[in-house]
Amino acid sequence: AKGAGKGRWRRYQAALHSAVLQRIEMRAALEQAVADLNFTVAYQPIVGVADGETVGFEALVRWRHPTLGMVSPDEFIDVAEETGLIEPIGDWVLQQAITMATAWPGTPYVSVNVSARQFRAPYFVDKVRKALAEACLPAERLMLEITERLLLRDDEQVWLDLTGLREMGVRIAIDDFGTGFSSLSYLQQVPIDVLKIDKTFTATVASSTRQQAIVDGIVRLAQTLNLEVVAEGIETEADRDLLRLIQCPYGQGYLYSQPLAPDEVAGWLRFEHD
Ligand code: C2E
Ligand code: CA
Ligand code: CA
Ligand code: CA
Repeated sequence: AKGAGKGRWRRYQAALHSAVLQRIEMRAALEQAVADLNFTVAYQPIVGVADGETVGFEALVRWRHPTLGMVSPDEFIDVAEETGLIEPIGDWVLQQAITMATAWPGTPYVSVNVSARQFRAPYFVDKVRKALAEACLPAERLMLEITERLLLRDDEQVWLDLTGLREMGVRIAIDDFGTGFSSLSYLQQVPIDVLKIDKTFTATVASSTRQQAIVDGIVRLAQTLNLEVVAEGIETEADRDLLRLIQCPYGQGYLYSQPLAPDEVAGWLRFEHD
């Protein structure tokens, strides 16, 4: 069931006394999940704010725990990062998302979250190229979501890899934009295509003129820099109406759709065009 399982791991773990023990338990369970491939990917529509038409989907991983049910990534991504398990998990999600997208009607893109650790691992760009070639998905239909954290360090290899991916045709988005406290100056040089406005800004856009000014500022900034913008976490019609007024081009959120199970995506796209 959708949304079920949120917090289950935490409640279950509350029975364990020490935080260290909890981490060890989680690590062992995650290792097993990687071995058994006990994950699934949900796909949330990304739509044009003006017309509501779907242009792409964000791939969001879920852990299919044998007894706890679906576990949200918010509960395990940190441990996956620390242990390095994010690499096999993330690579599997990438592979799944690329394969799934080839079966969708039309040409929506698929947007995949890539952790800094996964991105920095050897051969990441080669893996992307190979996965696209094997599935015969045009690179233009893949977007990768990175965080400002990846750009904080002045890392030449990251720079080269981002450039290489874009030369292939893959688009790069900065996720959770506005939450990273990093200097904005990197935006004029960094090889990226899209800013995703964090949901903490979107959630209050209709009720706070300050938040409105921030979102408006990000949209104008993006226009000037020739970047696309996606507002995340659109939950109400009031939020959407304000984003329309601001002329934010793209958005996603529960107002449009929850993340969909893999077998629901084709139906969603066909329904839209009937
Ligand atoms: P994110 O990348 O910022 O993804 C958006 C999150 O917001 C998703 O949570 C999505 O289900 C949720 N969301 C969508 N619409 C709304 C809305 O209208 N209101 C609210 N309040 N939330 C909404 P989810 O699926 O639990 O994922 C949480 C985070 O886990 C993601 O945040 C992302 O940082 C991470 N994550 C998910 N999948 C992957 C993955 O494959 N790899 C990596 N490295 N991280 C992932
Ligand atoms: Ca994301
Ligand atoms: Ca985000
Ligand atoms: Ca987030």
